[in-house]
Amino acid sequence: MNILSLMQRFPDQHACIEQLERVRFDEEPYCPLCGNLHVARKRQNNVVGRWNCHGCSRASMSSPVP
Ligand SMILES: [Zn+2]
Repeated sequence: MNILSLMQRFPDQHACIEQLERVRFDEEPYCPLCGNLHVARKRQNNVVGRWNCHGCSRASMSSPVP
């Protein structure tokens, strides 16, 4: 894979984060701290790749980093 094919595959930050989430969550998002499946994508301006867990006290987590 060269830089051109990499840029075609991941044209922007969202495409890159979506791929990281597929690898990280194996298709179904979950909280890495408590294992809860009740998580929701954080909805704020300019915040991407952040999730809220409704099952534990950790209110925010990132998708690509454990
Ligand atoms: Zn949790």
